[in-house]
Amino acid sequence: MTEQRTTIRYWNREVETLPRGELEALQLKRLKEQAAWALKTPFYQEQFKKAGITGPEDFKTLGDLRRLPFTEKTDLRDYYPYGFLAVPREEVVRLHASSGTTGKPTVIFLTADDLAASADITARSIVCTGAGREDVFQNMMTYGLFTGGLGLHYGAEKLGMMVIPISSGNTLKQFKMMKDFETTVVHATPSYLLHIHTRMEDCEVRPGDLKLKKAYIGAEPHSEDIRRKIEELYGIDAYNSYGLSEMNGPGLAFECIYKTGMHVWEDAYIAEIINPDTLEVLPDGEEGELVLTILSRRAMPLFRYRTRDLTRIIPGLCPCGRTHRRIARIKGRSDDMLIINGVNVFPSQIEEVIMRLPEVGNNYLIVVEKDGALDKLTVKTEVGPGMATDDTRVLYRLAQKIKDLLKASITLSPHVEFHEPGSLPVSQGKAERVQDRRKEPV
Ligand code: AMP
Ligand code: ZN
Repeated sequence: MTEQRTTIRYWNREVETLPRGELEALQLKRLKEQAAWALKTPFYQEQFKKAGITGPEDFKTLGDLRRLPFTEKTDLRDYYPYGFLAVPREEVVRLHASSGTTGKPTVIFLTADDLAASADITARSIVCTGAGREDVFQNMMTYGLFTGGLGLHYGAEKLGMMVIPISSGNTLKQFKMMKDFETTVVHATPSYLLHIHTRMEDCEVRPGDLKLKKAYIGAEPHSEDIRRKIEELYGIDAYNSYGLSEMNGPGLAFECIYKTGMHVWEDAYIAEIINPDTLEVLPDGEEGELVLTILSRRAMPLFRYRTRDLTRIIPGLCPCGRTHRRIARIKGRSDDMLIINGVNVFPSQIEEVIMRLPEVGNNYLIVVEKDGALDKLTVKTEVGPGMATDDTRVLYRLAQKIKDLLKASITLSPHVEFHEPGSLPVSQGKAERVQDRRKEPV
């Protein structure tokens, strides 16, 4: 689909089209302010000390940011719960946490001002796709600790859309609301949109019944083909939306109507691309890992956060006139994190759960594949010594136990398959514990 390209809408035209020099000056000013806050946190007191930075005045140019070491997801866990908090606890009005983490989750905190700033940024993202207060916004992303749902919610309300906070699930109700309230914009994972489309007929919906114009798709990797497929199936425009909980969730980078990469809102974030092996900063155009610094969050500053997402900065200007640089579609990750139906899972989290059980043997395999449009997770394990693989009642109970434990820790309930001891493949070198068969989705 091609959007009618005549009108380009801005939420804050001045900031969105700020000449690069002024935009960078604004970044530097905010970086210094953010540094002053960061020095209130135990973690950054240490990091700044390591870098020989004594205060905000040491950031003379944006390049001085590179003096600071990176911040990693493990740092967030190590300093859990409050080691990154830069304001008195009483000023925090919201806590979010990254999906699918066990033990110590990676939490983020926001003050009322932080929430307002975040709503402003997400309103900007939505307007950048040409949407406005005349639209009806059905938010099919999961509401809760995960930032997917609430992340865009406040921005949509701020700009005056009618928001339907339906969350994910319940296909029948999704279509009923879409029909009855003439939803024009939806926000969902691409796999969920493809999945519910297969149920349209069962829900007695014909494509002509819907008034849908746009979909914001994100939270999981997807290809250009998947975008096109969604656009064709629904007869709409689909826009790529990128974000992560640690950086307030969706809306940090969004496609405009030209769909040529996602504008990173650089007055609110500093984006760097690094080589994940050598850690050197790469020039625009070269592919590497995205590293982000948030400039507009008082409760919890984060400097040079390694997202592990692989992308590149697209050189050149976008025809929309925005000066904020664009990142390309996320190509993958530099770590082994899996994203299963939008939920982040490290294989080690599954291992931790199953290997604790004495009934489970020594070898296991995690298989992720497509089941229709959705992802299907299967955990194959060998049974422990003395367990018979033909005792169906015992095995049924064990499977249930594994499902419950995994549901509690990673929020996903897998299919469980049992194998005889020694029957799962063993590799000579590094054990291959994961088979991701989704490569060519749908
Ligand atoms: P979470 O912290 O649970 O919101 O998950 C964030 C992660 O989801 C990111 O680090 C990415 O790996 C992935 N993600 C989010 N949006 C996209 C997108 N548009 N394309 C590909 N991956 C995405
Ligand atoms: Zn643009």
